Amino acid sequence: MSLNVGVIGVGMIGQDHIRRLTHVLSGARVAAVTDVDLDRARAVADDLPGVTVHGSGEDLIADPAVDAVVVTSWGPTHEAYVLACIAAGKQVFCEKPLATTREACDRIVDAEVAAGRRLVMVGFMRRYDPQYRAMKEIVTSGEIGAPLLMHAAHRNPSVPDFFTSDMTINDSTVHDIDVARWMFDDELAAVTVLKGRVSRKAKAGFHDPLLVVLQMAGGVLVDVEAMVNAGFGYDIRGEVVCEDGTVELSESAGAVVKSAGRYAGRVPANWRERFVGAFDTEFQAWIDAVTAGGTTGPSAWDGYATTVGCETGLAALRSGQREPIVLRERPDLYKPEAGA
Ligand code: NAP
Repeated sequence: MSLNVGVIGVGMIGQDHIRRLTHVLSGARVAAVTDVDLDRARAVADDLPGVTVHGSGEDLIADPAVDAVVVTSWGPTHEAYVLACIAAGKQVFCEKPLATTREACDRIVDAEVAAGRRLVMVGFMRRYDPQYRAMKEIVTSGEIGAPLLMHAAHRNPSVPDFFTSDMTINDSTVHDIDVARWMFDDELAAVTVLKGRVSRKAKAGFHDPLLVVLQMAGGVLVDVEAMVNAGFGYDIRGEVVCEDGTVELSESAGAVVKSAGRYAGRVPANWRERFVGAFDTEFQAWIDAVTAGGTTGPSAWDGYATTVGCETGLAALRSGQREPIVLRERPDLYKPEAGA
């Protein structure tokens, strides 16, 4: 029996998730779609047999033929849809961010805690990337000693004109913040954002690159080079330095060619190419967990902590100072012993 999924927001990533639900993964089918642009929703539904187009996200969530919901609309709309799913007792996969403010994430955490069970998974797909998973396995095993530092780079080839330095934190570094919390099973304690020499490719008033320094509660330091005008490709780097060794992500996305005294490999063109497998694994994990009656993966707490990290990162970008990160107490629902 297939899980009937409703998709709210059929823009770029909504359509990509519909493609994977329909053609790549097993155990689910798209049963309903909606979008603020109903013509777009109808156009997407035209290619899918037996799909209902709803006039609003709220109608889609209330549809008894929809078992579970995917929220891929614009970030500021996520809170209302996730809250409506919790109220309806329906499992929801919400693309990052869970919500765009600390207060909105608080309301979601409160609602889920009141419901007494996890209903929310947040789309931090790097946790499903085989390279990051291998890195975490080695760090967690302790075989190369305790972790001390992580060096990371998040280089986008280019960004659209509407992109701002704030979005470098909210849309790019958000993934590095999630990786740091997950990699070290620890919360962030503080963030500093350094602005240096600006790339000639950055538009006026845009600080590119940024150097974001995260301090974990346990003392590990994570430096993230966040650059969105790299030009040459989508280059994601990571190295964890431990007491007795280091572990790093592979340099190349494919085969490495050595010839004529040089070696060369492929740099992915964009985030879709780099993380396509991670998105597939992430979604299959969600389908399997929901079919089994629960959820899995990054929780509403992870969504909350990451949004607070980004908000504080923006304060650090403006102040130029080290800004402490203050989180509410973690509810029992999200403690490891609760299976979160
Ligand atoms: P997008 O192409 O702009 O798609 C968003 C879609 O939602 C658009 O069709 C938009 O319509 C629609 N929408 C806006 N308000 C809505 C509402 N109230 N109800 C229903 N639909 C609404 O954006 P995107 O790139 O797909 O991003 C969508 C979400 O996915 C964002 O939160 C983004 O951060 C996240 N994302 C995550 C990753 C990742 O790496 N995990 C990658 C990409 C995107 P209009 O265009 O008419 O406003």
